[in-house]
Amino acid sequence: MSSFLPQHDPDHDDRTEELEEAREEYQWNHEYVSPLAMVEKVPGKDNSLFSLRWVAKVLDKLLDILANRAEDDDDKEKHRAFRHTQKNLGTSRANPEATVNEVIGTIKRSMAKAVSDRPQSLDDYAEMFRAIGLPPIAKDYTDDKVFANMRVAGPNPLMIERVSDLDERFPVTEALFQSVKPGDSLEAAGKEGRLYLADYEMLAMLKNGTYPEAQKYIYAPFSLYVVDKTSGDLEPVAIQCDRKPSKSNPIFTPNGSVDWLIAKTIVETADGNFHEAVSHLSRTHLFIEPFVVATHRNLAEKLPLCRLLMPHFWGTLFINDQAQDKMIAPGGTVDEVMAGTIETTRGLAVKGIETYPFDQAFLPETFKARGVDDKELLPNYPYRDDSMLYWNAIHEWVSEYLAIYYRSDADLQGDTELAAWFQDLVSQDGGRVKGLNTSSAFGTLDYLIDAVTLIIFTSSVQHAAVNFPQYDLMSYVPNVPGACYAKRRTRLTGATEQSYLDILPPLDQAQTQMEFLYLLGSVHYTKLGNYGRWQFKDRRVKAPCRKFQRTIENIDGIIKLRNQERRPYKFLIPKGIPQSINI
Ligand code: MN
Repeated sequence: MSSFLPQHDPDHDDRTEELEEAREEYQWNHEYVSPLAMVEKVPGKDNSLFSLRWVAKVLDKLLDILANRAEDDDDKEKHRAFRHTQKNLGTSRANPEATVNEVIGTIKRSMAKAVSDRPQSLDDYAEMFRAIGLPPIAKDYTDDKVFANMRVAGPNPLMIERVSDLDERFPVTEALFQSVKPGDSLEAAGKEGRLYLADYEMLAMLKNGTYPEAQKYIYAPFSLYVVDKTSGDLEPVAIQCDRKPSKSNPIFTPNGSVDWLIAKTIVETADGNFHEAVSHLSRTHLFIEPFVVATHRNLAEKLPLCRLLMPHFWGTLFINDQAQDKMIAPGGTVDEVMAGTIETTRGLAVKGIETYPFDQAFLPETFKARGVDDKELLPNYPYRDDSMLYWNAIHEWVSEYLAIYYRSDADLQGDTELAAWFQDLVSQDGGRVKGLNTSSAFGTLDYLIDAVTLIIFTSSVQHAAVNFPQYDLMSYVPNVPGACYAKRRTRLTGATEQSYLDILPPLDQAQTQMEFLYLLGSVHYTKLGNYGRWQFKDRRVKAPCRKFQRTIENIDGIIKLRNQERRPYKFLIPKGIPQSINI
């Protein structure tokens, strides 16, 4: 099929008819994760279960989970049978939906325990990994440098902001700072741009959950970091676990004590909850959903922009529907594992969108807004450095692609489908996208390029950056517990090994977290830039597309070199970045 702008298409009526049908099929819903916009019903052709390759990959991971559990012969027998089905999926007429459901059912049945056990030692968490390998983070997560590295190369490398000083909410004194960093000073670090704050204020809206059986706790901590003058690495300085400073909410500093380890655990629990509700679910999965729906409803398949976007939307409506219907439903996995009540966690996800207007989400602007864009000041920030390579590559590809078709502003302004797309995206009855600059979008190609770059970047690179650390960094539960199970400490000293174990999750919840994040964090379906031969039939697209693919190959080389010089950051290696959000 050739690509045409609507104003140049001889078959205008076909196009109108196609879009009328699409608007019937893809209707808006504003109730599932109210008031956000989602699709009312996922059409059959958008159901990922119809892609046998996707199902085979998911089944492969589900079978790992089953093998990891399989203790008696019955389990092992069943596992062998499923593995056989999975191997033959590509050639058999297997019903993928039934197969997936059967395996999930078997996993659920083998799970039923009456009361959840408390850990006797940390070994209990490591021993959960049998057929599934224990991630290396389990060995050094208590190291302070590893803790700081989580802020710049972790699952949620989006929190720190440069500050010149601190206010009364988190009153770290000069004396306290110098007790941690002799030879440096708080004032100098602030003036020199070496002081970084992670403030989890948004989590103050969470109410402590109790599902399924135990009281859980979540705090909205502050943590402070400094860039070491010699090494250039980020190091932790201080943690205040709760909002209001007081004698019973003291400021912890790194001293190798269990008290400090517990304070770090409270920060990681906050980071994990912010990660799942905001950075992952909200600002990638739910952020992209309205664009998928509006594209189906308003852009004909022949429109060049539609052909460019569709590969980046594959599976997103399906996986998001699973998320809203099952994962974040009352009694679902998020309710079980994460810290807040399910109502407040869903509220946090909504707030994640409402505080993330489209025009403020352009990647270079987000680094500037947090004051972390300067490599001289903050030399070691793997997520920033690797993600920017892709932002620039995608920007170039989108510019060259769109320039083939929109050769003047008049072309842009004459595209009625594009106009309808924007209108539907921002409408209260439609996508409810905030901060999309519709007036300049109509007028300038530059803005359209930025907008499309953000959509493709979020669907591929940003989602990979937050999704794939789920196995490597979040499935070993003591590193990032889904919830705390004891209150924070009110004194600076006196914590014991037992106090540390008390704050960690019971073993059932830990196992659910471990299995679920292993599954989500290890299904890589499709690869960024691999559009397939039939996606673009227009010969003029061939050269820019090939150039984009070569740029990605170069990025692979750059990241490999960088990883020899730093603690390896592997989540943005090209082969691990899918085209779309599909897990
Ligand atoms: Mn995901």
